[in-house]
Amino acid sequence: MLKQMFLKLEDYYEEMVSIRRYMHQHPELSFQEYNTAQYIQEFYEKLGIEVKGNIGGNGIVAKVYGKRPGKTVALRADFDALPIHDEKDVPYKSLVPGVMHACGHDGHTATLLVLAKVLDELKDDLEGNYVFIHQHAEEFAPGGAITMIEDGCLEGVDVIFGTHLWASEPTGTIQYRTGPIMAAADRFEIDIQGKGGHGAQPHKTKDAIVTASQLVLNLQQIVSRKVNPVESAVVTVGTFMSENAFNVIADKAKLIGTVRTFNDNVRQYIEEEMDRIIKGTCYLSDSTYNFVYERGYPAVVNHGKETEFLIASAKEVPEVITIEESEPQMGGEDFSYYLKEIPGTFFFTGAKPPGANPGYPHHHPKFDIDENAMLIAAKTLGTAAIKIHGSK
Ligand code: MN
Repeated sequence: MLKQMFLKLEDYYEEMVSIRRYMHQHPELSFQEYNTAQYIQEFYEKLGIEVKGNIGGNGIVAKVYGKRPGKTVALRADFDALPIHDEKDVPYKSLVPGVMHACGHDGHTATLLVLAKVLDELKDDLEGNYVFIHQHAEEFAPGGAITMIEDGCLEGVDVIFGTHLWASEPTGTIQYRTGPIMAAADRFEIDIQGKGGHGAQPHKTKDAIVTASQLVLNLQQIVSRKVNPVESAVVTVGTFMSENAFNVIADKAKLIGTVRTFNDNVRQYIEEEMDRIIKGTCYLSDSTYNFVYERGYPAVVNHGKETEFLIASAKEVPEVITIEESEPQMGGEDFSYYLKEIPGTFFFTGAKPPGANPGYPHHHPKFDIDENAMLIAAKTLGTAAIKIHGSK
């Protein structure tokens, strides 16, 4: 059965590439992916596969039913692009100025569409049900996953698998991880209100730049002196704004930054500790403040049994050369929401373009993938989906 699936995927490889290139040329931003959603829905309709659009927004869910009863397995691909201008010199370069598939979601979609087509052709020999979740808006919080789940995309689903094409790793690599694989990514803004004045008369002012500077340093002590060192966390102040003349003491200052964590308790603790430190630092300088902490996606926490199962599935794919544990990544992904509801695992499929050394990172204007990696992603996801019925 696996062999048949592999051969069919190979037969449709050209189609997979052409879907990916079409999407690459016609990218749409998060929450505005109307044409992409329509393209995906029509792909299924033309094949006579059960499909429903407008799931929690622009999301689409298609279903294939095996002939014999079994588990229901979901596979997920995202399909939004980024506000980045494509600077590649390739024939399939983005046709939309300032918008680009710079994270490989076009490849995820092409992979899943062709895999769904193949599983539909094989359905008379399959057990169980296959749910294809095409998710809009992964790149922009609050993301599409949460509303798709609220709209029922996981109803009756027993297990979920998802992959990200990963351009930093060579094609032929599968990277897995049990437990946290991607971080919770939060954003904060701190406005400090002091009292401005003449640069020569500091005693009559409350210097917002000095307060903000102390605050930046005090915030660094959360990770170095407050969080248990066996946990991972990042507190980064990425923006420090306060503009005045050279001889004027600042009236106000603004700090913007991000917090990354893998553990919900650590995440909660950092938010509370930040609040305490901001309050204390501003108290010292008799300044006032406004603190806004916006929660992004929670950490992607993979389930152990399903991750082991994924490793076993990847071993069945002839083109997979290396199967290795991934380092936890500090980037965020809203696949986390699915894994809070049901068991599953999210893994990386190496997709470094040949000859690219080191190549361009995700979200770079020259980002690209090795399209051959789509075939490996499809084979690995397909193997997991088919084999799950034999596992207890
Ligand atoms: Mn991505």
